[in-house]
Amino acid sequence: MEAITFEDLGLDGMSLEAVEAKGFTTPTPIQILAIPRLLNGEANVIAKARTGTGKTAAFGLPIIQNLRHEARTPKALILVPTRELALQVEKELFSLINTKNPRITSLYGGQSMMGQIKALKHGVEIVVGTPGRVQDHINRKTLDISQIDYFILDEADEMLDMGFIEDIENIFSGAPENARVLMFSATMSKEILGIASKFMGNYEIVQEEIEEQPVLQEQFYLLVREKDKTEALTRIIDANEGFYGLVFCQTKQDTDMLAKTLDEKGYQVGALHGDIAQSQREKVLYRFRIGKTRILVATDVAARGIDIEGLTHVINYSIPFDGPTYVHRIGRTGRAGARGIAVTFVRPDERRKINYLRGLTKAPLKEMALPSAEELLKEREKRIFNNITQSLSGYFNGEKKIPKIFKEYIGSVIQDKNPEELAAAILAGIYSREIFENKYTEIEPVKISDLRESGRSRNRERVSGRKTSPAPGKTRLFVSLGKRDNCGKKEVADFFAKLLNIPQRFVDDIVTTENFSLVTISAKDAERAIRITKKNRDLPHIHIDSESEQNTASLYKKKESGKQKRR
Ligand code: ADP
Ligand code: MG
Repeated sequence: MEAITFEDLGLDGMSLEAVEAKGFTTPTPIQILAIPRLLNGEANVIAKARTGTGKTAAFGLPIIQNLRHEARTPKALILVPTRELALQVEKELFSLINTKNPRITSLYGGQSMMGQIKALKHGVEIVVGTPGRVQDHINRKTLDISQIDYFILDEADEMLDMGFIEDIENIFSGAPENARVLMFSATMSKEILGIASKFMGNYEIVQEEIEEQPVLQEQFYLLVREKDKTEALTRIIDANEGFYGLVFCQTKQDTDMLAKTLDEKGYQVGALHGDIAQSQREKVLYRFRIGKTRILVATDVAARGIDIEGLTHVINYSIPFDGPTYVHRIGRTGRAGARGIAVTFVRPDERRKINYLRGLTKAPLKEMALPSAEELLKEREKRIFNNITQSLSGYFNGEKKIPKIFKEYIGSVIQDKNPEELAAAILAGIYSREIFENKYTEIEPVKISDLRESGRSRNRERVSGRKTSPAPGKTRLFVSLGKRDNCGKKEVADFFAKLLNIPQRFVDDIVTTENFSLVTISAKDAERAIRITKKNRDLPHIHIDSESEQNTASLYKKKESGKQKRR
């Protein structure tokens, strides 16, 4: 079978030149599907594809080709969830433009309105922006979208998750009726189809065939106790000399703590979460992007949309709460044909989730063997001696010259000493610490018997303390706050009281364990709590407690059918 080329897709000469200049040789599956449809016809399109599959060029190339004539007003509006992504999309589109028009600008929060207004006044055909800032500009009448031909939602699922739906609806209401609506999303949830039916009338769904996409990540899980996670992480980092990775934590607190611990152990590490100021965030990202820090610890929300090339590892320091998050996280490594490694830390009590993770991708998920302290020390020793040998050979094959002061010094100390001993003593002075220092601590092995003892369902029956369902109108909730977060009953009650703005006494039957707590609250409050925490992944995870829960997948099914019954 002949491979499909960019020429086959109907791109004009200028576009083909731009593609060539970018170094793209063959179109990605989503580009093959989307480009001809966007160049021809008028259908609204939803395109589903994973991160890193070239969605930007998939919509960018056709709209650029169709907007080469100077317009007095914006002709395309692209909404993206974050400032990072706005800059990234702007940059990618800009690199595909090789004519005077279209001109492009980006609008996002955290930067002065003035500069953005100036760019808009200057005249642009394409605007990329975050919903909040775009809405601001529309309100101030500094952005006019009444003449746009294209209304594009990039990473639509992320925008919905972040609660931008109202902004998007407001903005859309100002777009002309005949504007073509394009939506890009990594997942195809009910919410996505919901806004599609609202905005899009008739639409076509295109999606890459997953089978054609090789999974680029080698996926591993590591059974490890909470207390041993940091040690396990440092061993993984040390075992991989060029380690360049993202480490995902569930909460801001975990993120800060882990970054601090790694820093104290002497690693170059950055941290990102929702509470970090924009200016600091940019510094952290910059240092990571140029490879100055090789480790970035982050929450899901903070890491959203970050596209960094050449990552060797993604580590799930805590297990992600749902399937899309897992797939999204591990998709950050193994880009552009390079192989990446994803490792998920699984606590003994979470082991049932391993099969759930297995079902999420077609690639195998293998158990990881952690290198022992001895192996790591041996490796380090080998590395140091290799470096010395290499350096020495440079001096003796004439590549490098030995500076005179060193020769003079040796002459002055050699006297009656044995040259072999003298050289060894010099090396010992320089390298002893590095070679002999064992910074590793022991990791308590997870034994099969531990797994039987701490099985989640057993655990759960015991703490749940009830076999019957909660009273009518009440819901039993699981919240990922426990003693390890310094939360007892009082703190858990206080958490719900503040979250929902209800009195503490509305929070009943609180049971706290090491890792989580269970509470009973009114069904209405429970729904609200789930909704709020779903939108903000920096908050602890909450779900309806289900006694017979087998794994996360069946829990989700149950929740859905439960919802239907209530209606
Ligand atoms: P997505 O939006 O699907 O996550 P992007 O559009 O950000 O992905 O593209 C990811 C990377 O792949 C970018 O660096 C982009 O330049 C590159 N890319 C896009 N299309 C191609 C192609 N056809 N061949 C090679 N690289 C490509
Ligand atoms: Mg994208």
